[in-house]
Amino acid sequence: MADPISLTHAPQSATPAPRPALAGWLAQTNEVTRLFLGASQIPGLINLAGGLPDASVWPVEELAEIAGRVVREDPALTLAYSPIEGLAVLRDAIAARFSTGGLLLTRDNILITTGGMHALELIGKVLVDPGQTIAAQSPAYLGALDAWRPRMPRYRPLHLARDPDLVAGMAGAQFAYTVPNFSNPTGRLVPLEQRRALVEAAHATGTWLVEDDPYGTLYYDGTRLPRLIELAAGEGAYDGPVIYLGTVSKELAPGLRLGWVIAAPEMVQALVLAKQGSDMSTSGLCQMILLRALQAGLLERVLPGILSLYSSRRDALLAAMDEHLSDLFTWTPPEGGMFVWARARDPRMDTDRLLRLALDHGTCVSPSSVFDPEGLDHGAIRVNFTLNPPEKLAEGVRRLAEAARATLAE
Ligand code: PMP
Repeated sequence: MADPISLTHAPQSATPAPRPALAGWLAQTNEVTRLFLGASQIPGLINLAGGLPDASVWPVEELAEIAGRVVREDPALTLAYSPIEGLAVLRDAIAARFSTGGLLLTRDNILITTGGMHALELIGKVLVDPGQTIAAQSPAYLGALDAWRPRMPRYRPLHLARDPDLVAGMAGAQFAYTVPNFSNPTGRLVPLEQRRALVEAAHATGTWLVEDDPYGTLYYDGTRLPRLIELAAGEGAYDGPVIYLGTVSKELAPGLRLGWVIAAPEMVQALVLAKQGSDMSTSGLCQMILLRALQAGLLERVLPGILSLYSSRRDALLAAMDEHLSDLFTWTPPEGGMFVWARARDPRMDTDRLLRLALDHGTCVSPSSVFDPEGLDHGAIRVNFTLNPPEKLAEGVRRLAEAARATLAE
């Protein structure tokens, strides 16, 4: 009997070439990214590379109960197409949840998206033409770099520590991109003074300021700093330059693929038009699950468990790194988030090469090149601590140290 796959799939040799307009940016997508994403399927591999939550933090029973209930109660909201901008009831709930202090939000400030990645892509579509400039904290989230690659932007580094540089860095850019809470990849928390300076620079230059905030509740030490959008609040309903991005991925579950943009109504309107030609609407089922979860206080109930699990894993990773890696790398312990960023002491260390040897030793980390808009930084690694229990973190770091020594010995 003929193999059914051979009847429906084109032979390898007939794989169509990318159309010329795409070939340029396709060629620049980082091979290492594909390597470590695929590597997560290898049995026995200790994956320190991804930014993945631990499945044990998902409130499975509660979500299953809510999902069953909302489908039965409200098929018109859960199973039909939704409005492009999201369900009005959920937009109202997000507006109420984020209206803190002086920040006054209405549903016109809210766009529901299919995850935070989707929001990043829509922002690129709305704001960037080929060759235009994005001012970004560097190193930057690799998903954002991937989302914007088709826009063929230029990047300008955003120097947060120096005020005059900040204004010069933002002036004339299409937007500035920052992850103020426990950045991906560095785990860095932007201090209050620099947050104020960012917002002032956005006002002074008229440049949109994108605040990407998936880790905003994952503070293990210290108290929450104000969001940039809170610092940008003015009189009346919000109309400022900060575009805030939220997601349920780290607090609830990434499989819901649900995020939100909070922005000035004119920006929300522009993003709605871009979204129409993208996914048309975000899953109504997932939106209703989030609405009921918010109303039931589910996020507040699960958060303490997430914080205690992840902070103990952070401590376990740091202890293992102290034991095995301190002669090879330096790092600053993060106060939250999911990552430790470590820079090699020896300038000969090539962390793309380290990733390959680490895979041979049964572990993997993310090399700095994938977070550098120019792809030129080969001297650092991002290590995740949320996915694995302490014993595995320790063993993964031990394997990593072996691979690092082997890299230097080559
Ligand atoms: N921004 C940053 C900085 C992230 O780390 C992530 C998730 N890794 C996202 C956005 C996207 O999250 P999601 O699409 O799962 O909502």
